[in-house]
Amino acid sequence: MNINKKILLAHFKNASAKDWQDWHWQFKNRVTSIAKLEQIVGKMPTVKSKTATVASVYPLAITPYYLSLAQWDRENDPILTQCVPDIRELSSSQAALADPLEEDAHMPVDKLVHRYPDRCLAIVTEICATYCRHCNRKRFWSRAPNISFKTRITKMLRYIASSPQIREVIISGGDPLILTDQNLEWLLASFKAIPHVEILRIGSRIPVVMPMRVTKDLCRIIKRYRPLWFNTQFNHPNEITAESSRACNMLQEAGIPVSNQSVLLKGVNDSPEVLRDLHYALQKISVRPYYLFHCEPVKGCGHFRTDIQSGLQLMENLWHACSGLSLPQYVVDLPGSTGKIPLTALSSKLKNDLHEHQYFFDKFE
Ligand code: SF4
Repeated sequence: MNINKKILLAHFKNASAKDWQDWHWQFKNRVTSIAKLEQIVGKMPTVKSKTATVASVYPLAITPYYLSLAQWDRENDPILTQCVPDIRELSSSQAALADPLEEDAHMPVDKLVHRYPDRCLAIVTEICATYCRHCNRKRFWSRAPNISFKTRITKMLRYIASSPQIREVIISGGDPLILTDQNLEWLLASFKAIPHVEILRIGSRIPVVMPMRVTKDLCRIIKRYRPLWFNTQFNHPNEITAESSRACNMLQEAGIPVSNQSVLLKGVNDSPEVLRDLHYALQKISVRPYYLFHCEPVKGCGHFRTDIQSGLQLMENLWHACSGLSLPQYVVDLPGSTGKIPLTALSSKLKNDLHEHQYFFDKFE
């Protein structure tokens, strides 16, 4: 057993190894305060002063499972960097925006984002199992609406039913898999019952931060609403564990294609070796690398942003290191309906290589 898991189980006095595998236990015992975090793991180098102030603006929640993946005594551990509040979240540049994609301006009904004609994004909850410090929707964490879940979804259903151009509904959040099986099934069945909705997609970080939520019952439910695509977000190879692999495998065995949308994050995965190892590991668990997102200028996330030139260089390294099956598309998402722009550039070395092989194409002219 992983030593951190032992320490965590000992901390939750009556917890057993069976509790650890129960997602309700994981969710209920999320670490939600700096005091509690320090009580469990001691003074970590990552927990600098004033992090409690940050948590009062952008809440903190970490599942015991996700916390167990970190090396607590390591400065800049990639797991802790993604989940422990950082004072820099409060010192974003003036230019950073709470809502850089202008989602709020494209909501015909509350929490339903309609930016492209053929698809829409349903934000079905503001709650996540673990709050990722780099989240581009961190503005929602403390803004839960005061209407019931069913009223909220019913308003979305009415809009989608009256918009025949929508053929795909992306169910996101927050994390939709924190919903109960019953609510999730009602939601999937309701979206699928609209005749022009052909495809459902779930965006969830559950396989990464609370993989025990992927149960046989959940897979049985999701399977009923195929074609359904599942996108998750592994950002570092340390997140690919026996548990997360099992969760992805269960979804795949239920006939659900699982893809990955990483975010390029300074101090987490902005190195050629980490990106290579992440994509090798994804390939080993048959999760398709789909996008590598350039980190957006979101308020509270400035310290995670790299520049595009560095991202392009990392993609070129990845291109040399991995086969095409392991290559994500590096994209930047732009506001409104402009959407995702693929970022590609040829370095002078690649331009030279192409130039030197011009004779090959000349033969066929
Ligand atoms: S799970 Fe997704 S929505 Fe939730 S905090 Fe992480 S990135 Fe944001």
